[in-house]
Parts: sequence; C-alpha cells; structure tokens
Amino acid sequence: MNVIPYATQSINEDDIAAVQEVLSSGWLTQGPAGPRFEEAFAQAHGVAHAVAVCNATAGLHIACLALGAGPGKTVWTSPNSFVASANCALYCGADVDFVDIDPLTRNMSVAALQAKLEQAERHGSLPTVVIPVHFSGLPCDLLPMRALADRYGFKLLEDASHGVGASYEGQPIGSRYADASVFSFHPVKIITTGEGGMVTTQDPAIARRLQLLRSHGITRETSEMQQPDTGAWHYEQHSLGFNYRLTDIQSALGYSQLQRLDSFQAARERLADRYDQLLAGLPLKLPARAPSASATAQSSWHLYVVEVVPSPGVADRATVFARLREAGIGVNMHYEPIPLQPYYRGLGFRPGQFPVAEAYAAQALSIPLYPSLTDEQQDYVVAALKKALQA
Ligand SMILES: *Cc1c(COP(=O)(O)O)cnc(C)c1O
Repeated sequence: MNVIPYATQSINEDDIAAVQEVLSSGWLTQGPAGPRFEEAFAQAHGVAHAVAVCNATAGLHIACLALGAGPGKTVWTSPNSFVASANCALYCGADVDFVDIDPLTRNMSVAALQAKLEQAERHGSLPTVVIPVHFSGLPCDLLPMRALADRYGFKLLEDASHGVGASYEGQPIGSRYADASVFSFHPVKIITTGEGGMVTTQDPAIARRLQLLRSHGITRETSEMQQPDTGAWHYEQHSLGFNYRLTDIQSALGYSQLQRLDSFQAARERLADRYDQLLAGLPLKLPARAPSASATAQSSWHLYVVEVVPSPGVADRATVFARLREAGIGVNMHYEPIPLQPYYRGLGFRPGQFPVAEAYAAQALSIPLYPSLTDEQQDYVVAALKKALQA
C-alpha cells in the first residue's frame, strides 16, 4: 500500500487536451508538434539547438556517437547514476570507466577527475567523452570540468536526466559548459512525455549529426546529397542511424508540461526547503545546495536524498527503508554504484574501486518529492522517518 510514491508525474486538463488535439490533427509523428516542442525547450533552456528523442537512453547513445565515442575510445561517467549513463558508451563500442563522487554533492568529483586525467595522460589513455551526471538535480561543478575538457581534449556530455529546470552560475543546465546535454522525460522526472528525452547543444554541426542519427542516418536536404537527384522521392542514407524519434503525441504532452516548468520548480524548491527545516537535527546527512565552495547553483530537486549515517541509537538504512515502506511511503534508493552491477563486474569492475560512491550507496535514501506532494503528506513522511530512525 504505497500511498505516497517517491516521485510521480503531474498531469492536468491542459495536458490531456494537448494530446487529444494531436490525435485529431492528422499528424501522429514527424508533424509540427516535434519542432514546436524542440524550439520551446531550447528557448526555455537558453540554448541554440534541441533534438527530441524517444528516451534519454537513446539520446545518450547518439550524443556519444556525435561526440566521437567508438571502438578504441574511452568514456568516463559517474558510478552514482542510472546504468544508462554508462551503457551508452558500450552501445558505441567504446570502453567505459568511472570517476568517483564527491561525498557532499554526490556528483562526479572534480579532484578525482583531475587526478584520473593526469594518470591517463601519462598512460596515453585519455577519455574521448566524459559524462558528468547532475545527480538529484544538483548541477555538477561545470566550470572546472569545462577547463579540464579544454586542457585534456575530451568532450563534455552532461547527463541532465535529473536536471530540467536546474541552473549553474545563473545559466540553465544544458546551455553553456557542455558540448551536449541529455534530458529525460520519464514520468518520475521533472516534466514527462511518458517516454522521451531531449539533447541540447550550441554547436550546429553536432545538432545536425544528432538529427541524422535519430532518424536512420537519412537526409532529405538537397544541399547534402552525394548522388544525382532521381526524383521527388529521393533521400540518402549517409550514416548508420536509428529510429529514435519522439512522436507528435509525446511532443504535444512535453510542450504542455513545459508551460508549467516554473510552477513545478517553485513547488519542488518549497518542499525541499521545508524538508531541510523539518529534518534539521535528525541523525541524517541532508542534500548539499551548491556544487562546490565557490560555485552557485539551483537544483531542480528531482530527488531529495538523505543519508542515514550509522551511529549508536540510530537504526540502519535497511531498517529505516523497510519501516517507511511499511508506513505506505514509497522510498527508494539512488543508486547502487553502476560498476557493482553484475554486468559491470563481468567487465572486471570490483568493490573498493569507487569507495565514496559505495559508502554513499550504503546509507542513501530517497524520500518523496514531487509538485503535488501536500504539506500534510510531507509532515507524515517526516514523522514516519523520525520514528523509523530510532534503533
Ligand atoms: C532516467 C535516467 C536516464 C534514462 O532516461 P530514460 O529517458 O528513461 O531513457 C539516464 N540517466 C539518468 C541519470 C537517469 O536518471
């Protein structure tokens, strides 16, 4: 009886009307709703190009390809993420490795990244693409990451699946420091299209590569043709692409959801502030608010993650988790370190390689946070958590 989930979508009458309108419009896919959503998303994020895709996993795949990942190349990401952040590299035939996290932000540690780059430079094994993840919606420390990308010559690909609406140094995530950024519209995320995602970039050449990879590697642009025009039916396939398109039905839902991004964001910020106040003084480590001592950011508050720090008189995380589930609260855990998944152990990863991510995973707990969570429900979660923490 999970009465309060850890995350859920917010669908209103406008969303339903937008989807109904598309269903009667004659265009279910490849119609005008796709570009309309892309343009609105790009504008809302202050970025030149947005390419809609069928999910963020597909977006990460083609973004890796567009940024040069492939056989003989290496991609690094955070161990504290959903498996898609690493799987995308393997889809391209690249090798994958991880950079441990910062214990405060739970994001890829800049110091660990720098140390690993120095070592890789000595061994001639620098990565082609690095994928930091804005875990829980808190932006990574992008300024020093950009500097490292320029110094060591890798591409910076943000996994911004949690980051719709987040900003770093006053700039929306997805607009400024990375070569490309990928957002997810899965129902647990900030805005939803059922399944769906978006890749943003400031670089028109990368955007064009993404558009081609999204749709079979096929072009219909006269200026791009390599062979003589044989007729109005003529198109050419120039690369091995995929069918990773978002439908017009989904795009219309995304456009409608995007109109409420500011109100979603305000509701999440208010609830996060409230958790901070209500949970202060409990034996818990609460989420950080800044990417580093010097950088400022606004989290999108996709997740509110507390850590149950082991101490005398305090129940352990597993017990707290079980008690909250028992109380009808759909708590969750984000994430078991990717390298410790059986599949990744099969590639040679072992416990102890990413100690900070492992220590974090042993005590993390995601508690409910979504725009329609009421103060009353939140108070219930807090009371249940207080009780559950008693050993
Ligand atoms: C949800 C998520 C993804 C995958 O998104 P889909 O749209 O479900 O493919 C990738 N990375 C992270 C960090 C996520 O949370």
